[in-house]
Amino acid sequence: MPNNKVRTRYAPSPTGFMHVGNLRTALYEYLIAKSMGGDFILRIEDTDRERLVSGAIDIIYNTLKTVGLKYDEGPDIGGEYGPYVQSERKDLYKPMAEKLVKEGKAYYCFCTKERLNSIHSEKSSNGEFSSGYDRHCRDLSQEEIDSLLSAKVPYVIRQKMPLKGSTTFEDAVYGSITVENSEIEDQILIKADGYPTYNFANVIDDHDMHITHVVRGCEYLSSTPKYNLLYDAFGWEKPIYIHLPLIAGKNADGTISKLSKRHGATGFEDLVGMGYLPGAIVNYIALLGWCPKENKEIFTLKELTNAFSIDGISKSPAVFDYDKLNWFNAEYIRAMSLEEFTQIAVPYFKSVIKKELDWTKLAEILHQRVTVLNQIPEMIGFFEELPEYDSDLFINKKSKTTVENSKVMLNSAIEALEKLPEWTHDSIHNCLIDLAQRLEVKNGTVMWPVRIAASGMTVTPGGAIEILEILGKTESLKRLNIGLSKLA
Ligand code: GLU
Repeated sequence: MPNNKVRTRYAPSPTGFMHVGNLRTALYEYLIAKSMGGDFILRIEDTDRERLVSGAIDIIYNTLKTVGLKYDEGPDIGGEYGPYVQSERKDLYKPMAEKLVKEGKAYYCFCTKERLNSIHSEKSSNGEFSSGYDRHCRDLSQEEIDSLLSAKVPYVIRQKMPLKGSTTFEDAVYGSITVENSEIEDQILIKADGYPTYNFANVIDDHDMHITHVVRGCEYLSSTPKYNLLYDAFGWEKPIYIHLPLIAGKNADGTISKLSKRHGATGFEDLVGMGYLPGAIVNYIALLGWCPKENKEIFTLKELTNAFSIDGISKSPAVFDYDKLNWFNAEYIRAMSLEEFTQIAVPYFKSVIKKELDWTKLAEILHQRVTVLNQIPEMIGFFEELPEYDSDLFINKKSKTTVENSKVMLNSAIEALEKLPEWTHDSIHNCLIDLAQRLEVKNGTVMWPVRIAASGMTVTPGGAIEILEILGKTESLKRLNIGLSKLA
């Protein structure tokens, strides 16, 4: 048994999309294992059969693959401690629970749903603190148990929690936590359908798979005493617990609450679909709850692995800041080569531009300006179709343009550009600069009306020259003439 090797596991339930909180858990598990030369394991927790969502397992595989969180053992690659899908381990859990029953540490509970519902409503109506189940079947006689079992009355198996004393555990992030045992429910270990509960299966599996560090969201802090009482019941060594801070979103009124859809996209796939780069997302979420020792923000996965340490994890909620994510994304886009950027931008180009344009030239003017890829269609729509615009756009103080002089500029620009034998960035540039000199105006006085006429917009990616070059000579001249007619 590799008992000194660090082993972490990411144990998602395939119940839907990949929330950024889940991805952060996976990332931290990976980083903790890899920063200490350990193994990172993927285990699918699918015992809650009612919550399964088809396709969710593929989302897990695809996401981990996309962001490069390569696991050492897992359902699709196997490993020494498989199977790594809980439903395939189903037969292993019940005998473990029965062992506890034999030792007097767990018991059969035959209570019906109706009875359980009624005790819950009684408790809540009289305002009494409810630790859940009232332990009705905890002390049934052996005779009663045998007769109910032989009558095939459905049952669950519950753990017998200590009624007195308290349970304390150390969390690597939150410190020492103590819970009164009387407040801990006699939790269900095996459900009526024969499947284990998550609470039971995760302990059995973490033990069987030699997990040394259990990393999960802080919503599990309050369940940890239950898990520890199970480790105690079996006489097993407990793992190190690392609970991660809540990821919160900022509300309109300035307060924060658990990150949810009303704050914005929260799924990894949704963010990618909007045009966030996987590397930027991972980099950003690495810093949601962990603070590097060095003053640095941009990290590759490799650099994160080298820099990560558990003592840098914070317990205060981490606020998911979309502006900050935008900043990371822009940094990642700028760091790409033009070729790489063109490749990822072309699908966005093609979504609005149906004619033949030079994609690389278009990418060139956007590369330094785009923050999130889904801004692209809106920025480039004018290349496909000249929008309706008002002749007021030609008036610009800084460029010293008026309706009158814009007419002169456009007229002369059309005349000069028409004569160009070749249509390149340099030839257009020289032509328009010469024109400004000849007319004795500043360059902007020529460029502004030309750009307005070419795009119909005041804010464009790229200047007049780049836009004309991409549009081509025929389309450019057509647009400049339309501009001129608006000024007439
Ligand atoms: N299956 C649990 C979940 O998806 C895992 C919690 C844990 O890491 O133990 O939330």
